[in-house]
Amino acid sequence: MHICFATSEAVPFAKTGGLADVCGALPCEIARLGHSATLVMPAYRGTMHRGQAVQSTEFELQVPVGNKLVTAEILSSKLPDSEVTVYLIRQDEYFDRDGVYGEQGIDYEDNCERFVFFSRAVLQLIQRADLNVDLIHAHDWTTGLIPALLKIEFDDCDRLSRIASLMTVHNLAYQGTFWHWDMLLTGIDWKYFNWQQMEFHGELNLLKTGLVFADALNTVSPTYAEEIQSAPLGCGLEAVLSDRRGVLSGIINGVDYATWNPAKDPYLATTYCTDSYGEGKRVCKRALQREFGLEMAPDRPLIGFVGRLAGQKGFDIALPVMQAWAERQDVQWVILGTGDRGIEKKLQQLARENPGRIGVVIDFSEPLAHRIEAGADLFLMPSEYEPCGLNQLYSLKYGTLPVVHATGGLADTVIGADEKSLATGMATGFSFDAYNRSELARTLEQALALYDERPEIWKQMIETAMQQDWSWRASAVRYSSLYEQTIARHHATVPIT
Ligand code: ADP
Repeated sequence: MHICFATSEAVPFAKTGGLADVCGALPCEIARLGHSATLVMPAYRGTMHRGQAVQSTEFELQVPVGNKLVTAEILSSKLPDSEVTVYLIRQDEYFDRDGVYGEQGIDYEDNCERFVFFSRAVLQLIQRADLNVDLIHAHDWTTGLIPALLKIEFDDCDRLSRIASLMTVHNLAYQGTFWHWDMLLTGIDWKYFNWQQMEFHGELNLLKTGLVFADALNTVSPTYAEEIQSAPLGCGLEAVLSDRRGVLSGIINGVDYATWNPAKDPYLATTYCTDSYGEGKRVCKRALQREFGLEMAPDRPLIGFVGRLAGQKGFDIALPVMQAWAERQDVQWVILGTGDRGIEKKLQQLARENPGRIGVVIDFSEPLAHRIEAGADLFLMPSEYEPCGLNQLYSLKYGTLPVVHATGGLADTVIGADEKSLATGMATGFSFDAYNRSELARTLEQALALYDERPEIWKQMIETAMQQDWSWRASAVRYSSLYEQTIARHHATVPIT
């Protein structure tokens, strides 16, 4: 099989969240399973300087966007340590900017135009470079137009009509909705602008478009695949998703253990593995306390958080708990994130008022993220919803027990401590069902009590957590069979010429 990944971000070329981790790792694993994999993404400012050599190619495309033709210069590179070719679509007017989707929390006004251009460029490139693609794996709203273009614009005789499409939803809350006149940019006939296809409450909805036209759909955990078939997590698209439940599945993301492994992590004060985590984590905790200016208290439980500071991540319940506990001497917090200005300000204020106990860094820092994963005792992830979540998987590997709301991928990957899971040695973290601040506080208290009073259980939990294997291999095998089924289904409906 030849799978073409179409994505707006992939590590190491551009990253704003988990999508980039997935698209940097999955193609390599698919290639390791013996298939061909190609990745296509935009060339943003800085993309050419992420440590991978980038070359120009002979291809230059004229891409129709509305009533104009826009030039796409095609650059090529490779994903690190792999044979996966990456094609970078360069058009500086669209992509040579500080942000990927916007700046300072405000989306770029021409996002529809930018990603219509990108989606069309992907298909034109496949045609021009004669890539023998069997399936396009499209990710999120930025590539939602691709399945529609494949179905609508290419008739049975065209090579592109033989290409199947899989649409992966990484987060249903981001749908790419634009005013109806942006239909003109897509070049697709107005007849498709109806409530069953591209329209959503009077607007153009690119994610819905992908969900309607793709041959198969999936999301990044089995629980989230169920949750999005009803309100509120369906975010208005629950009917579309439950109508298509026969072709909707959930596959947990894997972890790139070449990057996220305490045994060989170059960012840490010291490396450690399951046998030596005791001393290793002590050293990393001390370094982290120093880095955040916290009191140097080796035995005080340290709660860490890394991630986007978005409503979804649970700060409406975590901030009140932090505020209520601010005076407590028996716990420390370290927070790394960027996002919502209101959340950023409240966190910074808490840190100012509680020096030595609460440390906050508003930044995007990969090295610091690694040091928090290693140096904290507990990892905070009370997300209101979480399609998959990667940080809890990293923290398992680093022996930092996650405290999670049992939703989406968090429910699928963390085994909360209760009588049964503790008795069988299966517990890997702490979880709560009802999303509210008192449940979060109760669960944190449960964790702190175990930390203080039951060191043997704590040790057992860390060892079980560190032994979990969430590597990409198992997920890639599942994707590979999903690709095969999707291609077969597509060929059953489209005659092969
Ligand atoms: P989401 O995709 O919703 O942002 P995930 O947990 O799936 O959440 O993935 C987030 C990824 O982005 C992780 O690799 C995490 O370490 C990284 N990340 C998020 N915010 C930051 C930050 N401020 N600094 C460093 N890494 C970050």
